[in-house]
Amino acid sequence: MVRFTVLASGSKGNATVVSGGRTRILVDAGLSCRELFRRMRLAGEDPETLNAIVITHEHSDHVGGLAVTARKLGIPVYFTEGTHRAWMRWLSPRRQMTYAQWIEAAAAARRQAAERQAEGDAAVVGEPDEPDEIADLPCEVPVAEPVAGLPAAWPSAPDHVPSRKEDPTWLPSVEYFRPGEPFEIGDIAVSSFTIPHDAADPVGFVFRAEGVRMASATDLGYIPPNVKAQLKGLDLLLLESNHDLEMLRDGPYPWSVKQRVLSRVGHLSNEAAADFLENGYDGQAAYVILAHLSESNNLPELARVTAERALNGRACLLANHLLLAEQNEPLSPIYL
Ligand SMILES: [Zn+2]
Ligand SMILES: [Zn+2]
Repeated sequence: MVRFTVLASGSKGNATVVSGGRTRILVDAGLSCRELFRRMRLAGEDPETLNAIVITHEHSDHVGGLAVTARKLGIPVYFTEGTHRAWMRWLSPRRQMTYAQWIEAAAAARRQAAERQAEGDAAVVGEPDEPDEIADLPCEVPVAEPVAGLPAAWPSAPDHVPSRKEDPTWLPSVEYFRPGEPFEIGDIAVSSFTIPHDAADPVGFVFRAEGVRMASATDLGYIPPNVKAQLKGLDLLLLESNHDLEMLRDGPYPWSVKQRVLSRVGHLSNEAAADFLENGYDGQAAYVILAHLSESNNLPELARVTAERALNGRACLLANHLLLAEQNEPLSPIYL
């Protein structure tokens, strides 16, 4: 049975569980680990059964609980390389070296440590053994502030190998994917597609399991042809309906933020989502979930009415069951 469970959606945190066959994937980890687990249990999902985490982009509402959750469960995280780098920079803002320099320095330090150990130099110790430390980690969102004791630039000594304790970016396992190149996680086939958004290398996803196709497309300034092409032949579509244009224009945000949201790399308005649903979409999905609604510049009823009006003309009455994803509580799992 295929299942799609939205745990949270909006600028304060995003996370969804996609289940198919024997595989369960967490899409984004934008809540604290504790809250993620709480909501999963509330929705009848067992956190311990997650197999992997896939990440759309590095904004904190999508990765806020990532490190702690991945460590706690000991599962791999799938990123594009650009997103992984940006996430590492976000967690280590004071690190005075580029990613390439850091990779090089860490590899050199490891080589040196291994060489010295091979020579029997007992004074040099590699990465300490800390098998139980991860299990005891508190379920809290890692902060972007430097961790106490973390040097501003490291490795600080040639033979220093970063340990899990010191490195806020440490993950049990990292897998890279390229946007547009399909890959598989267990029983779920994953396709990613580039979206226009002000992040390093942001993507949306199409998941396929047991012949069911589900797409997630949020955090996009508009819907370009490559995204339109992906959002066809779906059984479920999770689509951003971020703001009402008038509410945003008259709303509380400073002008610069309004410009950002409205830009081609910002967020999709109710009107733009409706235009797609009316003119760009094939009307096939059994479920359409409106997502990433702004709490300041939108009202659930406005988003719903605008989308309903757009879907009204669709011929297939059994399809397009409309739902709204929530910021503060999980949706009931959708079985497909
Ligand atoms: Zn977001
Ligand atoms: Zn974003």
